[in-house]
This record gives sequence, structure tokens and C-alpha cells, in this order.
Amino acid sequence: MVDVLVVGAGPVGLAAALEAKRLGLSHLVLERGAVAETIYRFPRQMVFFSESRNIEIGGHPLVSQGPKPTRLEALRYYQQVAEREGLRVLPYTEVLRVEGEEGAFRVWARDRRGEKAFAARYVVLATGYFGNPNRLGVPGEELSHVLFRYEEAFPFFGQRVTVVGGSNSAVEAALDLYRAGARVTLVHRGKWVRPSVKYWLLPDFENRVKEGSIGAVMESRVRAITQEGLLLDTPQGEAFLEADFVLVQIGYRAEDRLLKQAGVAYQEEKPLLSPEFETSRPGLFAIGSCAFGPDTRSVFIENGREHAKLALAAIARRALDSLHKEH
Ligand SMILES: Cc1cc2nc3c(=O)[nH]c(=O)nc-3n(C[C@H](O)[C@H](O)[C@H](O)COP(=O)(O)OP(=O)(O)OC[C@H]3O[C@@H](n4cnc5c(N)ncnc54)[C@H](O)[C@@H]3O)c2cc1C
Repeated sequence: MVDVLVVGAGPVGLAAALEAKRLGLSHLVLERGAVAETIYRFPRQMVFFSESRNIEIGGHPLVSQGPKPTRLEALRYYQQVAEREGLRVLPYTEVLRVEGEEGAFRVWARDRRGEKAFAARYVVLATGYFGNPNRLGVPGEELSHVLFRYEEAFPFFGQRVTVVGGSNSAVEAALDLYRAGARVTLVHRGKWVRPSVKYWLLPDFENRVKEGSIGAVMESRVRAITQEGLLLDTPQGEAFLEADFVLVQIGYRAEDRLLKQAGVAYQEEKPLLSPEFETSRPGLFAIGSCAFGPDTRSVFIENGREHAKLALAAIARRALDSLHKEH
């Protein structure tokens, strides 16, 4: 039996395991992919908007060439912190459900050998949102040339690519694709892309649109996708935009399947949480963006790592109290 079982070895889950270790609690992290799987899956050339020091965990310095780390620098960093701290992580182990109660949880998980249960006094979910991209909900979305994840531009050289979305990910992908020789059009329902787009990308995007290198179809909604392109509702009426690939980048929703399956109380689309991120089920905590439903833009590594500190401090107090009661 471990004191704290953490689900998810992203930056926030790793921060929770580090806190557990610092507080003298035993821990185990179960991760369905590799350590820092989400960052591994980020666009290959991505540079974080956060400065390095703002996404550090456990007081380990993140050394980067510039003030903001690249994907590769951050990926190496989180994996090395896990190694140097001797964190107990079981990768490629997907958690299926959480049963039991405070002091006696059973966490069911599956690896390539099959299913098994892990016993834990407290459970901390840090499952993020990256595995749950938003969908348009239109016919044709399931076609094989419609993509929800962007890794790099080279496969799209010479292809007509429509990027749907107006946030940072959409703009960054549009610029990257254009520079790698794709013919790019960005379709967005807003008047213009979001002002929160990285400050060094926004003028670049605006200038590319002005000079006609990237097409921009604003205040338009996708009604359907076919093998030939997209059917749009635009301010001028219905329009058809030809495309070889459609890249949908319209945000994410929390990966909260485990919370729902555990029967925790929700208010509208978010679980009810104490100030220490405990759910309505005593002993079960949810930290980082997995606890914020559709509101994934307000939680990052920067503030998610603080959730880990608050949750683990509460767990350490409770573990101490129950020890006193036993004696
Ligand atoms: C392109 C992009 C750029 C970003 N840039 C920044 C930035 O500059 N600064 C910043 O602070 N934030 C940034 N973010 C946000 C940040 O990446 C997320 O907030 C962050 O990953 C949160 O960390 P996390 O540990 O909560 O979630 P994640 O890193 O997503 O980790 C969750 C982990 O849980 C695992 N998991 C999920 N379900 C299960 C299960 N059932 N069983 C086992 N494991 C499971 C997943 O495989 C994953 O490894 C960015 C996000 C994106 C998409």
C-alpha cells in the first residue's frame, strides 16, 4: 500500500510526486504513456510561452538556451527530474477506475500484461486535457484527412491545408505550415484570432495574411467536411473551400473520465473541489487542468504545480492525524 497514488506523469503529476517525497509520504505514479507524454506530443518545433523558471518543479533549475524553453528542453528536463529524484513511475500503465475510500483505495490499471489493482491511502488525479481535443461536431469530421493533433509541417508540403481555430495553436500551426510550403487558409468563427496568441506570432500572422501568403476566413463556421473540402457558413453566405487536409485546433476539455466514473459531485461542467483540490469523495484529489472541465485555458503548468503543493500538504496533515488516532 502506498500513501499517495498519482495518476498522470505530466509536469503537474510529477510535481505532486515530488511533494509527496519531500513530505515523507510514499508515492507511485501511473502513466498511460511515457513520462511527460503530453510534451512529447507537442508540435516538434514548439517554444513555450512561459519562461523556464515558471514551469520548474521541485526547485530544479530548467536550463534553456533562451528565456523560454523549447519542447525538447522541457521534455528532457521533466524526464531527468523524475530520474534524479528517483520518482516511482510506472509508464505505459493506464488507470481504468478508482474504487474504495480514504485510507483504502483500489486503483485499477492496465498495462501490456493485463489488469491489476494498486492499493493507496490517497489518490491524486493529474490527467490534464491533451488527450481530449474539442470536436466541431459536424458531418465528415471522422474522415482520415481531418486531423486534431499537429506535430510538424513537412508531410503537408505542397498541400492545401485548412486550419480551423483562432487560438495560439491554430496560428502557430498555420505559420509553421506556410513556411514548410503548404498552402494554408485559417478559418475562425471570431472576428479575428485571439489577442492572447503569443506576442511574437501575432504580427507575423497578420502580415502574412495582409500580403496574401496565408488565407483568413473569419466570422465563419464549418458546417460539414467532405473529401474535397469544407462547407462554410460565412457572413456572405454559404461557401465551399477546397482542402487536402483539415487541421482542427479548437482547444481541449479536461480528461475527467476517472472523476466522473468515481461519482464525484459536479457543478455544471466542473467537479466541486475544496481549496486543497479534494473532490467530494474524501481522499480523492484532482489537480491541474483535469479538474477544470472546458475551462482548460485558465490552468497551465505554472499554476497547476501550485495545486500539487496545496493538495499534498492537505494529504500530509490528514495522514498525520490518522496516525495519531491509531496510537
Ligand atoms: C501547445 C501547448 C503549449 C503549451 N504551453 C504552455 C506554456 O508555455 N506554459 C504552461 O504553463 N502551460 C503550457 N501549456 C499547458 C500545459 O501543457 C498543460 O497545462 C500541462 O501539460 C498541464 O500538465 P498536467 O501534468 O496537468 O497535464 P499533462 O501534461 O497533459 O499530463 C497528464 C498526463 O496524464 C496521463 N493520463 C491521462 N489519463 C490517464 C489515465 N487514465 N491513466 C494514466 N495516465 C493518464 C497523460 O498521458 C499525461 O501524460 C501548453 C499546452 C499546449 C497544448
